[in-house]
Amino acid sequence: MANTHAFQTEVRQLLDIVIHAFYSDREVFVRELVSNASDALEKLRLKQLTQTDIYEPERELRITITTDEEGKTLTIADAGIGMTRDEVVEYLGTIAHSGTKKFLEAMKESKGGTQDLIGQFGVGFYSVFMAADKVEVTTRSWQQDAAPVRWTSDGQEGYELEDAAADTPRGTSIRIHLKEDAANFSKADHVRYVLSKYSNFVGFPIDFNGEHVNTVQAIWMKSKKDVSPEEYEGFYQFISHTEGKPLTYMHFSADAPIVLNSVLFVPEENPEAMGFGRCEPAVSLYCHKVLIDSKPDKLLPEWLRFLTGVVDSEDLPLNISREMLQDNSLLRKISGIITKRFIKHLEGVAKNEAECYERFWRTFGRYIKEGVVTSWEHKDALGKLLRFESTFTEAGKLTSLEDYVSRMKENQKDIYVLYGSSRTQLESSPYLDALKLRGFEVLFLTEGGDQFVMDSLMKFSEKEIKSIDRANLELPPLDAPQADQPGLDEAQAAALTSWVSDAFKDQFSKVSTSDRVSSAPAIALQGEGDLSPEIKAYLRAMGQEVPETHPEIAFNPHNPVVMKLAELQTQDEELARLLAGQLINTALLRAGMLDDPAKLADNSQALLEKLLQK
Ligand code: ADP
Ligand code: MG
Repeated sequence: MANTHAFQTEVRQLLDIVIHAFYSDREVFVRELVSNASDALEKLRLKQLTQTDIYEPERELRITITTDEEGKTLTIADAGIGMTRDEVVEYLGTIAHSGTKKFLEAMKESKGGTQDLIGQFGVGFYSVFMAADKVEVTTRSWQQDAAPVRWTSDGQEGYELEDAAADTPRGTSIRIHLKEDAANFSKADHVRYVLSKYSNFVGFPIDFNGEHVNTVQAIWMKSKKDVSPEEYEGFYQFISHTEGKPLTYMHFSADAPIVLNSVLFVPEENPEAMGFGRCEPAVSLYCHKVLIDSKPDKLLPEWLRFLTGVVDSEDLPLNISREMLQDNSLLRKISGIITKRFIKHLEGVAKNEAECYERFWRTFGRYIKEGVVTSWEHKDALGKLLRFESTFTEAGKLTSLEDYVSRMKENQKDIYVLYGSSRTQLESSPYLDALKLRGFEVLFLTEGGDQFVMDSLMKFSEKEIKSIDRANLELPPLDAPQADQPGLDEAQAAALTSWVSDAFKDQFSKVSTSDRVSSAPAIALQGEGDLSPEIKAYLRAMGQEVPETHPEIAFNPHNPVVMKLAELQTQDEELARLLAGQLINTALLRAGMLDDPAKLADNSQALLEKLLQK
C-alpha cells in the first residue's frame, strides 16, 4: 500500500526555485546524483571494515547508469549503503543537508538574481527535479533486516512511499522520468558527454549502458609529476561541486614521520563573503583511499576552513570512529604537518606569483589574521604572510613585514604601526610627525581586529611591534633638533604644563611638551598600562565594564596657539582654560580617546561665547 507524505515547507520552497532553473544549469543534477552514489559507496566501504553482517557482502561496489531514449528515462543506480524507510523519510523529504539549507537562506536574502547559484553550489538530490517530471527511488539498506522501499514524487507537494520488491538488491536506484524539454538526458551521447565532465574522479567504476566509462583515480596518491594542471582543476571541480578554477593548490606527500598524501585547494572566492554563512570543514580524511570522514572538524585548524581537498594517511587505524577522531594525537600531528606545509606553500606563492598572492590576500587575508591570533605555534610563520599599506607604499599597494624590516633605518629599533579606520584618516595623523622627521616607515592597520593580530604577533624577526600612539614610545634623538624655530623656552614650557596639570586635575597621567608633535598643537598619547581605544571599544561592544584610562597630553612647543596659550594663562585664566580644553579635547578626539563627544561641543560653545563677549 502506498503512503502519501507531504514535503517539508523548505523543501517545497527549494523545489520551486529548482524547477525554474536555467536550462544551462540542468546538467548539474547528474553530478549531484553521481556524487551521492559515490558517497553511498564510500560509506559502504567503510562499513565493510567494521561490520560483518552486511547484506549482499559480495555485491560489487559500482555505479550503473542506463539511458532509455524511447521511455525518456535515465537511471542512476549504486550498490552503496542504501536507505531504510526512516532514512528515506528523513533525507528525501526534509532539508537534511546543511549546504542546501544555506543555499535557501542565501536565496531568500538576495531576492532574485541568484538562479545561477544553482550551477555554482550544489543543491543536492532535489536538483533532479530540474529535469524530471517524476522520480522513483528504490533502495535497500546495507542492514540485513531492513525492508526495501520505493519513494516516488513529481516534485510538487509530496511523495509516496511503498514497499519495494523483495528481490531489490542492496543500494539505491534512481529512475528519472524526464520532462519533455529535458529529453536529451535520455540520449546516450549527451549523458556520456555530461559524465565525462563530472565523473572522472569518482572513486568507483561507472558502468554506462554496459560500458565502462571512467578511470578510477585517487590523484593525491600519484606523484606530482604525473598529474597535469587540468587534472587538478578537474578534481577540484569534482570535489567542490563547482565549475571554477582553484586560486592555488598544494600537492604534498611525505613518508616520514607519518605517511601522508594530500591535495589542498584554495577556492577562487570566499564563500563566507557571499552570504553562505560560516564554512564547514571541507577537507576530507582518507586512509589509503578509503574515505573516513568527509567533514572532520579537527583535521585542520579553524582558520583553514576555506580549504577543500583530501588528506590521506595510511597510518590512521582504518576502523577509527568519528568519536576517536575527536581526540587523536596522530590527527593532531597530521594537522600540524599539513598546516606548516600549507603556510610554506603560500610563502612560495607570495614569492613567485605575486599577483595570485595579492588576490589570495584580498580574499582570504582575514583567515591568515585569524590564524595569527588563534594558532600560537604557527604565528611567526603566518607573520610572513601578512600584508599592509604603509607610509612608504602608494595608496592601495601592500607591503610585507619582511620588506618593512629590510627598509628599516640603522637607528630604528622597532616596527611602527598605527591603527585607524582608513589610510586617509591615518595619513593626516599627528602621531606620524615624529616618525616622518626621523624617516621611519609606519604601517597602516585599518581593519577591525588588527590590534588583536599585532598584540598576538608581538614581534617580527626579533623586532618589537609598537603602536606610535603610545606614551612610552622610545625614539632616537633627532639629528638636527628644531631648536632654532620660535617656541616656548624651558621655563615657559614648565609653567604651561604645570598649570594645565592643575587645571585638569586627575584627568591625565602626564602633561608635557614634546617634539613628537609638529603638525598639530597637541596630541593625546595612550598612557602606560591603559587599554587602547580599540580594546575599549571591543569591551564596550561586549557589554563589559571599561576601566578608566589616563592618557598623556603632549603640547607642541613651537605651535603659535600653544605659545599664545602659555601667555594667556597668566592674563586671562578663564579664557586660557577654555582654549586648553579645546586643544586637549581635539587631541583626544583624533586619538579616538574622547569618550564623550559632548565635552568637545560644550567646550567649543563656551569658548566662542567667551570670545564674542570680548
Ligand atoms: P548531501 O549529499 O550533501 O548530503 P543530498 O541532497 O545530495 O545532500 O542528499 C541528501 C541525503 O540523502 C544524503 O546525505 C544521503 O544520506 C541520502 N542519499 C542521497 N542519495 C543517496 C544514495 N544514492 N544512497 C544512499 N543515500 C543517499
Ligand atoms: Mg549530495
